Amino acid sequence: MEQMVKSQKQFFLSNKTKPYRFRRKQLEKLKAMLQTYENDIYDALKKDLNKSKHEALTTEIGILYAEINFTLKHLKKWMDKQEVPSPLTHKGTSSYIVYEPYGCTLIMAPWNYPLQLSILPAIGAIAAGNTVVLKPSELTPHTSKLLKRMVENTFDADFFTVVEGDKTISEQLLHERFDYIFFTGSTQVGKIIMEKASKHLTPVTLELGGKSPAIVDKECQLKLAAKRIVWGKFTNAGQTCVAPDYVYVQEKIHHKFVNELKKQIISLYGKKPLQNKDYVRIVNKEHFDRLLGFLNKDQVVYGGKSDSVSLKIEPTIVHNISLNDQVMQEEIFGPILPILSFSTLDEIIPTIQQNEKPLALYYFGSAKKKENKLIESISFGGGCINDTLYHLANPHLPFGGVGHSGIGAYHGQYSFETFSHRKSILSQTTMFDIPVRYPGRKLAHVIA
Ligand code: NAD
Repeated sequence: MEQMVKSQKQFFLSNKTKPYRFRRKQLEKLKAMLQTYENDIYDALKKDLNKSKHEALTTEIGILYAEINFTLKHLKKWMDKQEVPSPLTHKGTSSYIVYEPYGCTLIMAPWNYPLQLSILPAIGAIAAGNTVVLKPSELTPHTSKLLKRMVENTFDADFFTVVEGDKTISEQLLHERFDYIFFTGSTQVGKIIMEKASKHLTPVTLELGGKSPAIVDKECQLKLAAKRIVWGKFTNAGQTCVAPDYVYVQEKIHHKFVNELKKQIISLYGKKPLQNKDYVRIVNKEHFDRLLGFLNKDQVVYGGKSDSVSLKIEPTIVHNISLNDQVMQEEIFGPILPILSFSTLDEIIPTIQQNEKPLALYYFGSAKKKENKLIESISFGGGCINDTLYHLANPHLPFGGVGHSGIGAYHGQYSFETFSHRKSILSQTTMFDIPVRYPGRKLAHVIA
């Protein structure tokens, strides 16, 4: 590992990664790599998580193509030095900002979108002119192996390489001195990464998780709200960082809403979701058992069945939940949706404020005043009004958490900026020299 990082640093110091043409070429190679291996990708995602082709395309590969195309379209402009004005005290100077790559970057990825969350940050790192060491998750071994094969066959290891392995390998990697660490995963491991990075004062981006609420108000379009919540929650069997973790529904529409949720589950996943060949499975037995541990049969209003061979759990709705129940104490990260009710927003805002800041928040309703109140009062990474998940697919929006749900953001130009240091340059005139800054000069008339 020491040698690998050393070689990447040497390559970086040769300045080869910095020209626009080099970056562009690597992004084009990355796109061609995904196209060449597209069938292998579908195959690996099917084996690792039982992802259907449709889900793999919409939530993994499609997002990557869109991000590469967007980056290729704008990269030249992003790379331009940015001229800034100078105050009167700086007469004769011109100032500008240069976006400088950090150097050798480490990207650590989770298992839930094992391709997308490995390659999406790499697009930003490459666009910004860095080299990349990628560590995919060991819990999705087929995708991890494929990532290694694809990258090895496409890129020079001094520029972009993949290191496979578990926690032990991650720990070894973290002993090395990287110039930037981009981590996606749990809050718990995020804290370890930050601690390890602090040894070398390596800057980090932490894309973490949390309990993201969906709030369903009485003026919402009920059917559409239920459909979009069911889609956002049960896509990838709830194993999505920005999935609505739980729902707060206004008490007057509680029953109607739960009925609509059931209808939408049947419409999207069928009456027997365990037999639906396209329904995603839980990543492993440990997570399967952890999720079943949340279920109390008296609280299940819909679903609740599971299959320990295929590791599938039905889209499940639970109610009569107290905030002290285990299901409300930690991020669920699976197909279990607790429904709680409220009377007024004023009643739930303090409750949400008391918890750690969520990665996302979703509000379903038409009252602008209430929407503004929620956005103003609750700190969260990002979110949607009358939808779920969709904000993350707009490359013009920064994607990231706040507090325990993360530090920093990426996507589109924000990825480029995340992987760049802003270097400030002031160019001074030699035509004249304003004397006021030198010792012995009277300041009084200047200040006046
Ligand atoms: P995780 O934190 O267990 O693992 C993430 C990565 O860290 C993996 O590559 C793993 O090998 C490595 N790792 C694990 N333990 C480590 C240790 N002790 N030291 C160093 N490295 C270690 O996360 P996960 O289970 O793969 O993913 C699920 C979590 O990720 C959820 O909390 C979810 O919300 C979050 N997530 C966040 C986003 C986001 O964009 N904000 C996206 C996806 C997932």
